[in-house]
Amino acid sequence: MHIDLFTMFFCPACKSQEIYAVAGGYLGQIYLCKQCGYRGSFVLEIDAADTPAATEKDK
Ligand SMILES: [Zn+2]
Repeated sequence: MHIDLFTMFFCPACKSQEIYAVAGGYLGQIYLCKQCGYRGSFVLEIDAADTPAATEKDK
């Protein structure tokens, strides 16, 4: 049985999902929030399977 698991990223500052990975340098991956302008290597990671959004994806 195949379980399609993927991780969703949330901005730690404003909880927006409008956050994108930008070019990672020697510090590693850096994320940029389109919503509030937050930029950093720390983001909230949530498994999609644990969120209500996962059922929506199932359609
Ligand atoms: Zn943000």
